[in-house]
Amino acid sequence: MINVTKSYLPDIEKYKAYIDEIYSSSWLTNNGPMVQRLELRLKEYLGVKNIILVSNGTIALDVAYKVLELKGEVITTPFSFVATTSSAVLAGLKPIFADIDKNSLNIDPQNIEKMISQNTCAILPVHVFANACEVEEIEEIAKKHNLKVIYDAAHAFDVEYKGESILKYGDISTLSFHATKLFHTIEGGAIITNDDELAKKIRYFINFGIKSATKIPYLGTNAKMNEFEAAMGLCILDDIEEIKNKRKAIIELYRKELEGIVKFQEQNINATQNYSYMPVIFESEEELLSVQKALNTQDIYPRRYFYPSLDTLEYIESKQDCSVSRDISKRVLCLPIFVGLEKNNQTNIIKIIKGDRD
Ligand SMILES: *Cc1c(COP(=O)(O)O)cnc(C)c1O
Repeated sequence: MINVTKSYLPDIEKYKAYIDEIYSSSWLTNNGPMVQRLELRLKEYLGVKNIILVSNGTIALDVAYKVLELKGEVITTPFSFVATTSSAVLAGLKPIFADIDKNSLNIDPQNIEKMISQNTCAILPVHVFANACEVEEIEEIAKKHNLKVIYDAAHAFDVEYKGESILKYGDISTLSFHATKLFHTIEGGAIITNDDELAKKIRYFINFGIKSATKIPYLGTNAKMNEFEAAMGLCILDDIEEIKNKRKAIIELYRKELEGIVKFQEQNINATQNYSYMPVIFESEEELLSVQKALNTQDIYPRRYFYPSLDTLEYIESKQDCSVSRDISKRVLCLPIFVGLEKNNQTNIIKIIKGDRD
């Protein structure tokens, strides 16, 4: 069976060495040495000012909404994983969808401006499939209208925009380190901000607002990453260049062989890629379903990331015109890509996609 992805597992002996360390210290969680080490290494590797590790990418968003004290409407993209929208709804915010650009698949800045109202407090874009948003335009709009910006950068680990980390944009960027992501800690995530004061506030917030043994000056929650998760991250970070190179080769083969047969996401020319997803866009949903069926019969399971368009979710009341997202979400399929995907299996996937069209 071949799925859209397969979680990367590092060398077990290396992981065991970290586990031995955890056993000898009995320090399992609460900002332990593994979490501290991983934070330092990620800060350096990604080139960001403040990075706070948390227990998953969804809670990273939750924390961002809370520490920025958001209330009212957030303008977001309808083309993303459901967590972008559902987390906002659960935080008492009202998602207002601005339709995407049909080529980049990212929120279209021009549509953002149209959706701004007196109740808008923030913009919540997603670098979908790690394709960098038009961050400079978004920054300008936010400044002009005095809005906060939170980037759901769940996919955008290790992406650079004009030579610097894409995570530097916005008041906050969040990452997901879920097992299916490019870089993972089993479950996990991170919050990135350039603002040192905000970073401090986040550190208290993810640990119940506790300042010291007898001082609890703030409100807070539990969003901590544990030591076993951080140890996994330390192992995988050692291998990340190799992981990216292997994925790059897979993507290049897909792109070469499927050119002209399907459409690809248009990449931001000012940004690097991280080879995390291989979305392809078909002419029609019928064609997608037919290819999906052909692949499924051979035990190959691509995924319909992202379907349905989030503006059509049942618990969303406001209906904006997101015709581009509704259309794209019906026609986009993410093909299998992971370290260990064998060449003959990939060739077979390509053959089925090509063959199914004749
Ligand atoms: C994976 C993902 C999340 C959620 O991250 P978890 O770590 O699974 O909670 C949020 N947004 C996007 C766009 C994602 O792909």
